[in-house]
Amino acid sequence: MIDTTMLRVHLQLPDVCNMRPECRGCSTAHQRAGRLLTPAQAQDWWQAITWLRGQHGRLHIVALWGEPTADPILMELLRRAARDNIVEIVSNLVDLGELENVPRRADCRLVASYHPHAWAGTEVFWERVMEARRLAWNVYYMLLVGYPGELESTVQDRDWFLEHGEQVAIMPFGGTLGRRLYPRDWSAADWAILAGDLERNWGRSDLMRPGTALRGMPCLAGSRYLWIGKDGKAQACYQPGSPVLGNVLQRDLRLLTEPMACPYPNCMCPDQWAYIVGKVPQTAE
Ligand code: SF4
Ligand code: SF4
Repeated sequence: MIDTTMLRVHLQLPDVCNMRPECRGCSTAHQRAGRLLTPAQAQDWWQAITWLRGQHGRLHIVALWGEPTADPILMELLRRAARDNIVEIVSNLVDLGELENVPRRADCRLVASYHPHAWAGTEVFWERVMEARRLAWNVYYMLLVGYPGELESTVQDRDWFLEHGEQVAIMPFGGTLGRRLYPRDWSAADWAILAGDLERNWGRSDLMRPGTALRGMPCLAGSRYLWIGKDGKAQACYQPGSPVLGNVLQRDLRLLTEPMACPYPNCMCPDQWAYIVGKVPQTAE
């Protein structure tokens, strides 16, 4: 699913979200204060994307962390970028208004993120998915966040979407809820459910749990993948404290030329597992 020959950039640009009430444990609350991109900022970003494209070829741009469709100026920037890059957005589909006018290409991708508290049922959300497809987006898979205490209904929802022919993945909640920290504090029973879904979609689950054999494995993060913040700062990996490789708004980015040794005990994003060079020994659960 991930083409590791292209430079893939996760753009942490959506700085707003239209989800009301917000999702439990939302990790981006500090970013959702309603700050839309200004036209001048969008122009700076357009120049940065054009520069990055010129330096490293066709990009795979993913807009996430917040809700891209809640910022019309960002969506216009992404529509421009989609003319000659792969553009992917992760969207809650609360408001479809900004999804129009994308280039009619299969690689304008959308990941539909289902938040059951916001919808009257799976059927209603599925109708939104169909509408996004009518607007030319390739909704190539659906995502359900797996929250502690809700997994039974999450599995029912997943199965409903599977029965209706969708690709769907349960993404284990990561972060703090109450006094518990996830994934560390998942019960064995809950983790068995989550692990089963990860294995169905990505072939393994152990890399998400602390204590894997991941640390020290070579990874293409920083050479074929970047995490770019709203200030333009480009980090090698999405995890906090990963090496800063420059700033795309200032045009001083230097990609790594060799795989870096993963400094982390686990990797919470299964799409990133494609960047690991070599086979990480399986950890017994
Ligand atoms: S849709 Fe995403 S950004 Fe918005 S409240 Fe939910 S988790 Fe947070
Ligand atoms: S394996 Fe995951 S956590 Fe480790 S460097 Fe690569 S992307 Fe980051």
